[in-house]
Amino acid sequence: MKKIIQILILSFIIWSCDKSKPAEKIVSKETTFTDKYALDTHSFAKPNEAVAKHLDLDIDVDFTKKIITGKASYHIEKKANAKFIHFDSKALVIKKVTINESLIDSIQRETSFNVIKGDQIHGDDLTITLPKNTKTVHIYYETTHKTEALQFLSKQQTADKKNPFLFTQGQAILTRTWIPIQDSPQLRLTYNARVTVPNNLMAVMSAKNPKEKSKNGVYNFTMKQAISPYLIALAVGDIVYVPLSERTGVYAEPSLIKKVASEFEDTEKMMLAAENLYGKYNWEQYDIIVLPPSFPFGGMENPRLTFATPTIIAGDKSLTTLIAHELAHSWSGNLVTNATWDDFWLNEGFTVYFERRIMEAVYGKDYANMLAVIGRQDLDEGLENLKDTPNDTKLKLNLNGRTPDDGMTDIAYEKGFLFLKTLEEKVGREKMDKFLKNYFSKHAFLTITTEKFITYLNKNLLLPNKIDFNTNQWIYEAGIPSNQVKITSDKFEIVMQTIEKWKNNEISVKNICGQDWAIQQKIHFIRNIPITFSAAHLQTLDAHCEYTSTTNSYIAMVWFEQTIKHNYQGSNVTKKIEHFLTNVGRRWYVSTIYRALKNNGRLKEALRIYKKARPNYHSVTVGTIDELLGFDE
Ligand SMILES: [Zn+2]
Repeated sequence: MKKIIQILILSFIIWSCDKSKPAEKIVSKETTFTDKYALDTHSFAKPNEAVAKHLDLDIDVDFTKKIITGKASYHIEKKANAKFIHFDSKALVIKKVTINESLIDSIQRETSFNVIKGDQIHGDDLTITLPKNTKTVHIYYETTHKTEALQFLSKQQTADKKNPFLFTQGQAILTRTWIPIQDSPQLRLTYNARVTVPNNLMAVMSAKNPKEKSKNGVYNFTMKQAISPYLIALAVGDIVYVPLSERTGVYAEPSLIKKVASEFEDTEKMMLAAENLYGKYNWEQYDIIVLPPSFPFGGMENPRLTFATPTIIAGDKSLTTLIAHELAHSWSGNLVTNATWDDFWLNEGFTVYFERRIMEAVYGKDYANMLAVIGRQDLDEGLENLKDTPNDTKLKLNLNGRTPDDGMTDIAYEKGFLFLKTLEEKVGREKMDKFLKNYFSKHAFLTITTEKFITYLNKNLLLPNKIDFNTNQWIYEAGIPSNQVKITSDKFEIVMQTIEKWKNNEISVKNICGQDWAIQQKIHFIRNIPITFSAAHLQTLDAHCEYTSTTNSYIAMVWFEQTIKHNYQGSNVTKKIEHFLTNVGRRWYVSTIYRALKNNGRLKEALRIYKKARPNYHSVTVGTIDELLGFDE
């Protein structure tokens, strides 16, 4: 059950037209304005009528009240006869709206607006009256405690426990809960921001960033490349910066920065591998900020500044695949963006494919194969979870009336990957790479629908090479087509042979643990513990391999899942699971464990822990777990 959103009180301010204003000198773009945007059922914006092209954000972050107040100013373009512009607004208080009739004129005039109540998923339609020559719209607003994008953290929720922290999460349709905006991925815009924070804290955004704290707590940002609204992001905290190369670096709390810098020291190598595959990095700088553990995702590809969970700091670079993933989004997702959330697989399927190519280039084919096989297992699990809703196993989705979060499953990521990998096998790697490189450069800073992609694929890869491929079946039909490529891993073969020996008592558990395995092999081993094995088997395993006390979060997550499935409760594992769930907010991790508890007759226990953990989670995680456990406040 999701939270009920408070209905905003509508306020009307009457626009007073100043008819004595001198004639406008700037040539209007209205005559060239043409219909060109796809239908996006997740936004109230009517961009074919009037669209915002640039944002100037001027905000104050108030850690005491846990709100943001300020002004969002937009340069707009509109049809000559457009009388209104529509923005998305959810759980915001809109105080006043003013307009300018010229980009150079500083005189603002109030205009009328109406907050038309929408629903719990989409929020409201903020409709603003546009006088004929409007060039700029200024929306004065403040956020409320119902905001879903912002998470204000107390100092106890940070690594250093000295200062509070704030981060935003815009994807998919949450930017509208901290900025009134035309919140559709196809509506790319440039932005500048002026952000005021307490002067002992630093602010960073998905933009050109400071490397040191300012004296007065005021920070100015520029993002000169047009990005989708879900990629506007802000983090505020006691953070420091360390460069890793001329164009890469890391931000983290002071106590973590050294560890973080060493964990991510291969970032430049990954950048070079990525550029070598699919062309120049288009965003100048690439930095990573490590956030407190309640961050709901592994990473979020905010342009120029990836937001990352601290759960990937393993001390041995074993979980940095995630950085390859977020970096790959600098091409697939940020440069070429899904036009609507029904096309989400275009962002994620391509990114998983690209991520594995980067990992192959940097760490070798064996490594990439292991990732692909793990991904295939995730896909099987995803298909099993969706067996009652087969339409959700199509790549192109229809999420009309539903939250876009429903489409953020393994289908977009792993079926998307499998489609591209199967295509690669069919056409050959050389042709595939040439095609992808051109695809990224041809669509740079644009958005794309599935239909446009298919047309492009046919025209540029399949037809010229006379290749017959079941593209439509992959994209528009449920399940996995039978021509799927089969990926194997020699390293995993070794793991499976070891499990066979274990089953037949041909190897001691001590020897299993003593093997020099990569983390992926360990993950593969744990996930494949025979279901017939009892709690006693797990106890022996734990006594030698010490999985319960691991400091690697990925191993912990898959191990905890197995202990629940096998009803193993020794070594304080129950307490460890509770500690994990109350300290980590990464949605994939916690949902895996809660689901295992629920499916193995421990729903009551799951609910008890969740009640305690829930205040520490971001709304994205809360939304998923509420539904999974049937939790009602
Ligand atoms: Zn991604």
